[in-house]
Amino acid sequence: MPGKNLSREEARDRAAIIRVESYRVHLDVSAAADPGRPTFRSTTRISFDCAEPGATGFADLLAPEVVSVELNGIALDVAEVFDGARVTLPVLAAHNRLTVVAECAYSRTGEGLHRFVDPVDGETYLYTHYEPADARRVFANFEQPDLKAPFTFTVTAPAAWDVYANAVHERITEEGAARTWEFAPTRPISTYLTAVVAGPYHVVRDHYTRELPDGTLLEIPLAATCRRSLAPHFDADEILTVTKQGLDYFHQEFDYPYPFGKYDQCFVPEYNIGAMENPGCVTFREEFVFRSKVTEAAYESRANVILHEMAHMWFGDLVTMKWWDDLWLKESFADFMGSYAQIAAGTEYRSAWITFANRRKAWAYRQDQFPTTHPITADIRDLEDAKLNFDGITYAKGASVLKQLVAYVGPEAFFEGARAYFRKHAFGNTVLEDLLDALEETGGRDLRAWAAAWLQTSGVNTLTPEVTCDAEGRITELAVRQDGAPLRPHRIAVGLYDRGADGALVRTDRYELDVAGERTVVAGAAGRELPALVLVNDDDLTYCKVRFDEHSLETLRTGLGDLADGTGPDGGSTPSLARALAWSAVWNLTRDGLMPTRDYLDLVLRFAGRESDVGVLQSLHQQAATALAVYADPAHRAEYGAALAECALRELSQAAPGSDHQLAWARFLADTAERADHLRLLRGLLDGTGRIDGLDVDQELRWSFWLALAAHGAATAEELAAELARDHTASGRRQQTQCLAALPVPDAKAAAWAAVVDSDELPNALVEAQIAGFNRAGQRELTAPYAAPYFELLESVWAERSIEIAMRIVGGFFPRYQTTPRTLAATDAWLDAHPDAAPALRRLVLECRDDLARALRAQECDAR
Ligand SMILES: [Zn+2]
Repeated sequence: MPGKNLSREEARDRAAIIRVESYRVHLDVSAAADPGRPTFRSTTRISFDCAEPGATGFADLLAPEVVSVELNGIALDVAEVFDGARVTLPVLAAHNRLTVVAECAYSRTGEGLHRFVDPVDGETYLYTHYEPADARRVFANFEQPDLKAPFTFTVTAPAAWDVYANAVHERITEEGAARTWEFAPTRPISTYLTAVVAGPYHVVRDHYTRELPDGTLLEIPLAATCRRSLAPHFDADEILTVTKQGLDYFHQEFDYPYPFGKYDQCFVPEYNIGAMENPGCVTFREEFVFRSKVTEAAYESRANVILHEMAHMWFGDLVTMKWWDDLWLKESFADFMGSYAQIAAGTEYRSAWITFANRRKAWAYRQDQFPTTHPITADIRDLEDAKLNFDGITYAKGASVLKQLVAYVGPEAFFEGARAYFRKHAFGNTVLEDLLDALEETGGRDLRAWAAAWLQTSGVNTLTPEVTCDAEGRITELAVRQDGAPLRPHRIAVGLYDRGADGALVRTDRYELDVAGERTVVAGAAGRELPALVLVNDDDLTYCKVRFDEHSLETLRTGLGDLADGTGPDGGSTPSLARALAWSAVWNLTRDGLMPTRDYLDLVLRFAGRESDVGVLQSLHQQAATALAVYADPAHRAEYGAALAECALRELSQAAPGSDHQLAWARFLADTAERADHLRLLRGLLDGTGRIDGLDVDQELRWSFWLALAAHGAATAEELAAELARDHTASGRRQQTQCLAALPVPDAKAAAWAAVVDSDELPNALVEAQIAGFNRAGQRELTAPYAAPYFELLESVWAERSIEIAMRIVGGFFPRYQTTPRTLAATDAWLDAHPDAAPALRRLVLECRDDLARALRAQECDAR
């Protein structure tokens, strides 16, 4: 296997003969604050056994320079054994001691040891991120999840810094301007789960105590950190409250004491993903530290991520998948638990299942209809495959299927299975079979057939109600038709809804049943009067696309917003899951070219203003923007866009002052504003000449207004520079970069393109900002000249850039707004001409192609 990749076979062969006893890793980052120093010194000592003495082995290491390699006391010739990605170990003994000293590079892409300088105060911050295989950018190792070992980290850092790692520190030694932190050995963990965070981080400490069933006291020191300049915005209390609720809940449910000692949660800059479950040292994207007002949905989303990562301490960290094929074993569970625990642990966020139905599942449905979809248990040949599989299938579909499993076997059997699984496989590695064994012991139901249908196949089923009536309008038969291959067993609820006295649509009947095969009759429904609405998959138990009979669809067209909110346990009103499901279903109809875009937008125009769940409302805003950008008949785009902007303005003026809804509509107005009077309104809000009661035009909202003005040529580079001077922060720099790239002039596009493509100087966060500003729906003519160069640069980008950056360029610069058959033909031509391009690159292009083909079908539907 050439280059940086590692195949499943190589990993399997290596695990067959090697057992790692321990790692000792020393990192010297004492000169990290000097931007002229591109590297840091990394020293690794690995003690390991080999079952086949005499065999040749290799360790993984991505480093610009290796200083020395010593195996069993013998110095090896670096030039001979190091090829830039691997250290060849020519002859292994039964027991081995390997020492590798290297100069490793600070990262600017979020992969490996990332270095960031805060523009506010000039302070330097470091953190690591490794999954799936970037620990080798920081120290030499055997980079595969099933070679677990205890790690002992030692870090030499500037004296004013704090250092965090997976375990507690045992000793700090002063050495002039530096201090060396010695950490305790970890429990056996995988390389991708190790972590170091270092810098002058602001920290809030707390403590969690719990009496275990055997009477002993479990003590978990807690810490939450962020950059110093963010400290005024850091609501650590809120974060630690959810943390303690989660620790209570998981201990009660998993019955296995938290195994990693302390629990630090570090919010770090320029982070590529939401968060990472490093045992004892979880890293989060610092955008979860809110600088400006955000809606309840953002707090809920953060609570979800906190609980997701915490669930990983058991699912993933304590018990880890053997290879990336079974990535779902941790991600699907954590994703499911992130929502489940929000309710079960008693957090204040009650909309978890609505958000799950509406947002999480939308991700799964989209991914599952790509030609590149895959079973939840995937076939991961190598690390490039692994990198692309952190996707809507592994997370959202997997979690949806676990939700269905809980409906199928019941929560008691599900959690009893999980407890058995932890006890049996603690600190080990597993595959699908191990989980099924544990669940079957406790669940009773035969899970092999269930697993074969749900975990080992791909694609989404469609469920449609079929209603027949007699002359008096009474149901003679209600059945559920299942489409899509393969057909699966579904545990579902079917809800019947009618209008109450106040006109609201309320559920009058609920039937829970197992659907199998093509058609299943709903027992008990015959004889009942035809309801206004039949909702299959009510309560969102299974994973499917919901369709409607004609009568129900008509009810939704005229009254989707009439689906009534419910009453919560505290007597207050709770947003309607059924309404969220209806929104999700009409969005799927639109995406599938079965509902004209104008009809979908009409529903948004009429009913979004009545949506009580702000998370659902914000999804509607996003989906409406997508519908307008790529699904609308181009002949009607301007007209639809104007109607959405008018709607945003109307709702903004009617929203309760200071409410989340007001903020959401203000942002949507910025997204849709085109007309001069709308842009003038935004400018007035910025310069203080205009005002909307209760609307705080804070820094993040200011930037979203500036983006609207910039994109329509109503802001100058000088004004954007002035705004940056006002907000001279990392976030401000990203926003200003995006605004500059969004200016509607060819030079702005050329500069953004060049900054990303012609140089690899930009950090990940600014690459993202440039791309977001460059590729805008309203600027099709300006970006059209870049469609051809895009296809020409794909292969070199894939070969030369880190995979994280390459993925952003390939997905971000795809000419998605050149929504024409010509772009489709150009994409097909590239695919035809490059059958041997890297499979992961082809996968990304195939997915972009599929989105484009879907958009063309939707446009056709809208034009009919
Ligand atoms: Zn996860």
